[in-house]
Amino acid sequence: VQWLGAAARLTSLEALLRSPPAASLEVAITFDDGYASVHDQALPELAAVGATATVYLNTGWIRDDAPRSSQPQLGHYPGESFMRWAQAEALTEAGWTLGSHGVDHLDLTRESPNTCRDQLVRSHDEIARRTGRECTHFAYTWGRSTPQLRSLVSQCGYSYAAGGLHGPVRSNFDPLEIPRINVKRDYSLDDFKAVVLGDWDYLRWVQRARRRAS
Ligand SMILES: [Zn+2]
Repeated sequence: VQWLGAAARLTSLEALLRSPPAASLEVAITFDDGYASVHDQALPELAAVGATATVYLNTGWIRDDAPRSSQPQLGHYPGESFMRWAQAEALTEAGWTLGSHGVDHLDLTRESPNTCRDQLVRSHDEIARRTGRECTHFAYTWGRSTPQLRSLVSQCGYSYAAGGLHGPVRSNFDPLEIPRINVKRDYSLDDFKAVVLGDWDYLRWVQRARRRAS
């Protein structure tokens, strides 16, 4: 985070999407699922460099009382526990944005339109009710979407959805499939620097080729 704060301008996702940078390096940070570590560790570390982030919540896993443990077989990170609603609300108060990642952690490209709609609407409404703000951001589980799912996301009240295609946000970005750079737990600082500076942007083409083949 210290390196990032020095190498790039840290900005909010909203600001980045409003005007994608033409030349300078601007970074908006996002987190999926809604783990307590985002509140306990990322919030103070980012606050120390004057930054905020966006977190996409699985609303069915966020509790008012005893936190739920992550289930790696459902696609969660291992060894995490989910944040509580009070922690999610504290993030909003600190200037963060809350978006939806669905109610459960389902792969919506494999579910019926009714299930998708239910997941999209219930999570959207709960976040709006809890924060008193519009919930306009969504992130696809595993970054996976289809044209049908993207149009359903838009119909269910979202303006933006983060996908899994690796790469920077350019001025012609698709608001329903915003590219992202996935940062894995085992990356070294050198890996992280390389991935942020664009040295790994070829990954996008590897992903596209794989999708076409699958
Ligand atoms: Zn996820």
